[in-house]
Amino acid sequence: MPIQTINPNTNTVIQTFAEMTDEQLENAVAKAASSFEDWRQTGYKLRANLLHKVAGLLRAKKDMLAKMITLEMGKLFAHAEGEIKLSAEIFDYYASNGENFLADKTLHPVHGEALIRHSPIGVLLGVEPWNFPFYQVARFAAPNIMTGNTILVKHASIVPQCGIAIEELFKEAGAPVGLYTNLLISGPRASALVADKRIKGVSLTGSEEAGSSIASEAGKYLKKSVLELGGSDAFIVLEDADMDKTVEWAVTGRINNNGQCCVASKRFIVVESVADIFLEKFKTKLSQLIVGDPMEADTQLGPMSSEAAAAQIADQVQKAVDGGATILLGGKRVKREGAFMEPTIITNMQRDNPVYYEELFGPVATFFRVNDEKGAIDLANDSPYGLGGSIFTEDIERGKRVADQIDTGMVFINHPTWTQADLPFGGTKRSGYGRELSELGIDEFVNKKLIRISELSDPF
Ligand code: NAP
Repeated sequence: MPIQTINPNTNTVIQTFAEMTDEQLENAVAKAASSFEDWRQTGYKLRANLLHKVAGLLRAKKDMLAKMITLEMGKLFAHAEGEIKLSAEIFDYYASNGENFLADKTLHPVHGEALIRHSPIGVLLGVEPWNFPFYQVARFAAPNIMTGNTILVKHASIVPQCGIAIEELFKEAGAPVGLYTNLLISGPRASALVADKRIKGVSLTGSEEAGSSIASEAGKYLKKSVLELGGSDAFIVLEDADMDKTVEWAVTGRINNNGQCCVASKRFIVVESVADIFLEKFKTKLSQLIVGDPMEADTQLGPMSSEAAAAQIADQVQKAVDGGATILLGGKRVKREGAFMEPTIITNMQRDNPVYYEELFGPVATFFRVNDEKGAIDLANDSPYGLGGSIFTEDIERGKRVADQIDTGMVFINHPTWTQADLPFGGTKRSGYGRELSELGIDEFVNKKLIRISELSDPF
């Protein structure tokens, strides 16, 4: 796949980038490895200063960077600004808390004294997606640089300018050569790179196919991996939910990031007694969305990230219809230039429909009626994915009881989803393994070394 900036609002090619040669790639890996030998010796204060500087630069350049995101992958400009702000918060969070998270942990064993010391493990490879081009990289790079590891990032081929801009931020912040390097290479070359002896761990956020490819290589070469993959989050509406507010969140949960969030609400599961009223209001709100140029302030739904992504979701909708589902709203490409898809609601989706177990990565909601709370839980869990999910109810204790029975890595009560630096993020089942963000996120690529101290005694 070519490494290109293509504006999805118009589908015009803006710029094409040459892939790195083998020699350039070898040079990048060598520099990351030699940089590790120095970086691992630095103290937390110096690392924290660098991360705070990166955060400051993100804030100072917010307008320019947000425009770059919108240009390359079509996110609404205001949301792109929000992504830059959140990314800066993540860099600051690990700069401020990393030393505390990584401090020695004293153990209290039955015999002797012992502690756990946290040490970096080396060069890490991150493979990142286009849907949050700065936030996803921040989740991976900030904790691991604080730990003392060095970073190579293979970013998605449709956001090359964002990938290059992040490397430039590190350079401007004073990062040593080799600490953070952006790799302009293809997915298969990233997978092949996992075999390199100098690479000690790999983290991928993206599709199951890419995750499987990276994890196979990591398994083959016995390296630690973290996978953040797709989702098909349930949005459960119980009969005691505040319907107007719930519907507002249903719309946001589905169309945020133009429908392309791993933790978007994708399956709307509503108990029978409120199903009609929910569906009527949901349809009305979705049909009123202003679709258009993501740079315009009043646009509510922008383009998908690429023509290929728009074509794929339109194909999935057609496949669902061919499999017996019904289109209640939308269902087609928007009649204009660019990678646009209509806001869509699909009903009558049965388990034998070929799309039933697929992730719908765009502004397409599937709607299900269930008899009761138990039916909602069973349906929510009838998915190969286990990323997030939400429950809408006035009764918080009931919400917590339901949350306990949902097989996902994250459950949100009375909100479709949420992320911030101090909350862990990750999934179970086919949504991946490992966690990013919070204290858990700094723990993934660390050697937790046991040091035991004994009184010198006579040998047995
Ligand atoms: P993707 O096609 O898997 O791309 C993600 C990254 O993997 C890109 O950098 C891509 O490079 C690379 N890649 C592709 N094939 C590869 C291979 N064989 N080996 C190694 N790397 C490979 O996914 P996407 O379309 O960008 O993103 C959508 C998916 O990501 C959805 O399923 C979404 O739910 C998931 N996602 C999950 C999370 C989470 O935190 N759980 C967050 C965001 C997105 P190229 O661009 O060069 O192909």
